[in-house]
Amino acid sequence: MPTQIGMKGGYIIRTLICTICNQSFESKHSNNKYCSDECRNQGRKNRRKNWETETNYKEKQRINKTVQRQQKKEVQTAEELERIRLKKAELKQRTEKQRDQRNNELEIKAKNGDPEARMSLAKPNSKEYWEAYQESEIDYYNKWNTKTIRLINEVSIFEENFVEKVLESIKVEGRIYGRLISQKHK
Ligand SMILES: [Zn+2]
Repeated sequence: MPTQIGMKGGYIIRTLICTICNQSFESKHSNNKYCSDECRNQGRKNRRKNWETETNYKEKQRINKTVQRQQKKEVQTAEELERIRLKKAELKQRTEKQRDQRNNELEIKAKNGDPEARMSLAKPNSKEYWEAYQESEIDYYNKWNTKTIRLINEVSIFEENFVEKVLESIKVEGRIYGRLISQKHK
């Protein structure tokens, strides 16, 4: 850098060349690189640009942003999964509550003798089940004055010992079948 030296007001004044615009300028300081604030700003920008290039700054920023986006997505996914889990838990609780309520209602009805409720609560093919079944069929028959009669394994609901005969027949035949016969065959 060509430097000319002069004196001004007791100071050594140097004529320097601006590293940005290549114009000469006067300065008291030999290490001054810029002729003006404008060129100083430009120099700062250039240094920043060089630093970004040397350190791969922009690529690092891109990677960081990708990582941040990914992390945000993972948080959202976790939140979504938690919402689903809560909904399922809530549904399960509601279902159990409804089932309990239904069971309570059935038990009250069964205690009051309701055959349908007793059938619902009885074990399949138990004595209690077939007793309730017979009663329910007879109720139906009487209520609607129907023209048909139900047979289970050929045992009429009006037969004496219907329950014992049906249970015995299921044991022997290994199956349950029902059919209707018209009243005149009774
Ligand atoms: Zn300049």
